[in-house]
Amino acid sequence: MKRIIIIRVCEIFLKGKNRFYFLNLLEEHVKKALSGINFKLEKLQMRYLVEDFDESDFQTIIEKLKKVSGVHTISPAYSVDSDYEKIKECVIPLCEDFKGSFKVETNRADKSFAIPSVELSRMLGGDILSVYGKNIYVDVKKPQNTVKIDMRENGKSLIYTQTIKCVGGMPIGSSGHGFLMLSGGIDSPVAGYMMCKRGMKLSSVHFHSYPYTGEAAKEKVITLGKMIAEYSAGMKLYVVKFTKIQEAIHKKCAEDLMITMMRRFMMRITERLAAMHGGQAIITGESLGQVASQTVESITSSNSVVTMPVFRPLIAFDKLETIEIAERIGTYETSILPYEDCCTVFLPKYPAIKPKMDRILKEEARLDVDALIEEALSDVEVIYL
Ligand code: ATP
Ligand code: MG
Repeated sequence: MKRIIIIRVCEIFLKGKNRFYFLNLLEEHVKKALSGINFKLEKLQMRYLVEDFDESDFQTIIEKLKKVSGVHTISPAYSVDSDYEKIKECVIPLCEDFKGSFKVETNRADKSFAIPSVELSRMLGGDILSVYGKNIYVDVKKPQNTVKIDMRENGKSLIYTQTIKCVGGMPIGSSGHGFLMLSGGIDSPVAGYMMCKRGMKLSSVHFHSYPYTGEAAKEKVITLGKMIAEYSAGMKLYVVKFTKIQEAIHKKCAEDLMITMMRRFMMRITERLAAMHGGQAIITGESLGQVASQTVESITSSNSVVTMPVFRPLIAFDKLETIEIAERIGTYETSILPYEDCCTVFLPKYPAIKPKMDRILKEEARLDVDALIEEALSDVEVIYL
């Protein structure tokens, strides 16, 4: 009896001609996520088996696989010889914690095995009942617990009771490379995670306003970046010093347009960094109407300074929906730590909710936009996460 982990990928994207491309990418990322751990990866049709690992690495492997985009579900399982007594010996302890209804489901790819699948399920069901029959009963239609027996053609059976939902989506790198504008807030890490799920490799850009925002604020972003990097199979974080630009806007432009102006600079700088480092899209955590800078007028204004596509996966999300995902992926607790973001520095009392384009352009003409951008780009810190 050997402990293994079954990895399942989505069948839909594997049906096309690109099947091998997707599978190779996925395999590469599974190996990368599990680097430093001893294991063997066996490729089956539409599935992989992780085997020959040390028992002490079992939980780590499970946690790492949960973050690999393109992995849809995993099952901790046992592999045993396809022999009735051996299967039974493996199955009985697995059912110890069952409560309520259960069923046994057998899939017999190995047609040389003497007992047909329905009969085998029935026999094992009887064995389970004879041990735990006081607490559980059989329900083949809607069971609360299921024991699955997967009899392979090589004379081994995979046995499991648990299927864990993972990220799903597509393997990283199958959908290009995006530049995530990563603040210390709740939304942008979630936006990054969602694009990883669709197979987009991430780099991220953070605008930092030292000394108005301190080291702790930057550390918080690095911590969040590390969490997102796990879904992106690693990530570079570009930290841009934003203070001079903010001071220039504050000094020369109308106060109510502060955020509007900042956003336009952030978008331009992110696009430039993306163009320099192989990025094909910009990603933000904006959600329509959430704050003054996220009205359709504000988004039009910040969008109009770039030509790259801007992906805003949270655009139609309520805050609570975003928080739900942030909690699930583990970023929420860090995001709510109380360190200022650069956007809270110089925050106007009454920000323009529907900024007018002609006014924005007139105010912006007071600044040497190109020079400010070049200066910011000349001193960018790169952190490998
Ligand atoms: P978040 O929770 O992601 O901070 P938010 O609801 O606070 O979002 P805003 O502060 O208006 O919204 O920011 C909108 C988007 O702009 C963010 O989701 C992020 O993509 C980008 N952004 C804001 N501040 C920064 C920053 N300091 N560095 C990089 N990107 C930023
Ligand atoms: Mg924010």
